[in-house]
Amino acid sequence: MSIVIIGTGMAGYALAREIRKSDPAVALVMVTADGGNAYPKPALSNALIQGKQPEQIISADATTMAERLHAKIHTHTRVQAIDTARQQLITDRGPIPYDRLVLATGARPIRLPFKGDGADRVLSVNNLEEYRLFREQIEPARRVAIIGPGLIGCEFANDLAVSGREVAVIGPDAYPISTLLPEAAGRALQQGLAAQGVHWHLGTVVDEINRCEGGYQLRLTNGERVSADVILSAIGLKPDLSLANAIDLETNRGIVTDRILQTSQPGIYALGDCVEVAGLNLPFVMPLMNGARALARTLTGTETTLTYPAMPVNIKTPAHPVVVSPPPRDAAGAWTIEQTENGVRALFRGPNGELLGFALTGDFTNEKSTWTGQVPPLLA
Ligand SMILES: Cc1cc2nc3c(=O)[nH]c(=O)nc-3n(C[C@H](O)[C@H](O)[C@H](O)COP(=O)(O)OP(=O)(O)OC[C@H]3O[C@@H](n4cnc5c(N)ncnc54)[C@H](O)[C@@H]3O)c2cc1C
Repeated sequence: MSIVIIGTGMAGYALAREIRKSDPAVALVMVTADGGNAYPKPALSNALIQGKQPEQIISADATTMAERLHAKIHTHTRVQAIDTARQQLITDRGPIPYDRLVLATGARPIRLPFKGDGADRVLSVNNLEEYRLFREQIEPARRVAIIGPGLIGCEFANDLAVSGREVAVIGPDAYPISTLLPEAAGRALQQGLAAQGVHWHLGTVVDEINRCEGGYQLRLTNGERVSADVILSAIGLKPDLSLANAIDLETNRGIVTDRILQTSQPGIYALGDCVEVAGLNLPFVMPLMNGARALARTLTGTETTLTYPAMPVNIKTPAHPVVVSPPPRDAAGAWTIEQTENGVRALFRGPNGELLGFALTGDFTNEKSTWTGQVPPLLA
């Protein structure tokens, strides 16, 4: 029996490690379009203040990972198609057979089509290669425009502002991270980052980006103009569904699986940023770690249903730290907010007073474990 994993991101490698804990002998093959370096992706948005160069983020290269995992790792090998009848991957370096297949292909940055002759120079950072390019351009840069006031945009804003750059954050939302945070918490973060020097352009979007003497000029729909040496797009990620759609797997926002992470085709599984299980597509580390543990057991002979505990997300904005455990989408209930000059405690309670979610900022982040213990599991 051979298990083949497409992807050597945190999901692919977490799964491989878990498989080896249960079965030291099963044939394990990994295929990746990139160089196969193992690295903690969350470090990309705070590497500057950590004083880390891109190479210092890497924990092990592909050769070391192959030895540790007793696995064959095909690097720089893009899977172009899956031949399900013959049970083999079609790659740009020849076919690779599989018995059990796992798609851990991640998500891709959403790109907006901007007008102007500078539109093609907008960067996004979702892997180490993109981060290397970003760092090259950032080193001599003084002014950075970040498009997208979401979680990743705010983390980069903090990192760049603390490292001495002039940072502008632009987006249509009324306040930062509005998809996860209640307004009071988002505003507290906005003020914390403003105190660090971040300029906010909210309630507006970028219309046009043009090259100009020494950099770029962004024209916003509200008439404002922002000058920048580097432009970073951080408007969100979209699960990569290309391979799944080509073989008619059921997809929605992500690749749809059942509770054992099996797709609509028996023997093909999905994990990480690309998966949608029980309607949840959660592009964070904790969900993929829980998924990797359950799926490894299933693949090595003990069918295991995925469960998710409450999994609060720490937002890496030391200028004003935030922890959030968002309530389930469409949950009935309301936020109660307590605010001091040092932060916000926001608790979301259901109709019977039960705690369904929370957002803590500033000093209140110390209460993370207290409230985490009181919210129900995401997937029981
Ligand atoms: C800047 C940043 C900061 C973050 N901070 C946090 C944080 O603080 N906390 C948190 O919980 N989460 C954070 N996240 C999210 C977290 O990093 C991701 O959820 C996680 O890394 C996703 O891992 P993955 O393996 O699913 O996907 P990816 O890392 O995207 O890996 C996908 C893999 O699939 C391969 N692949 C794709 N298509 C093909 C193909 N056709 N052929 C071959 N190989 C292919 C790629 O080469 C790659 O190896 C952050 C993300 C970013 C971008």
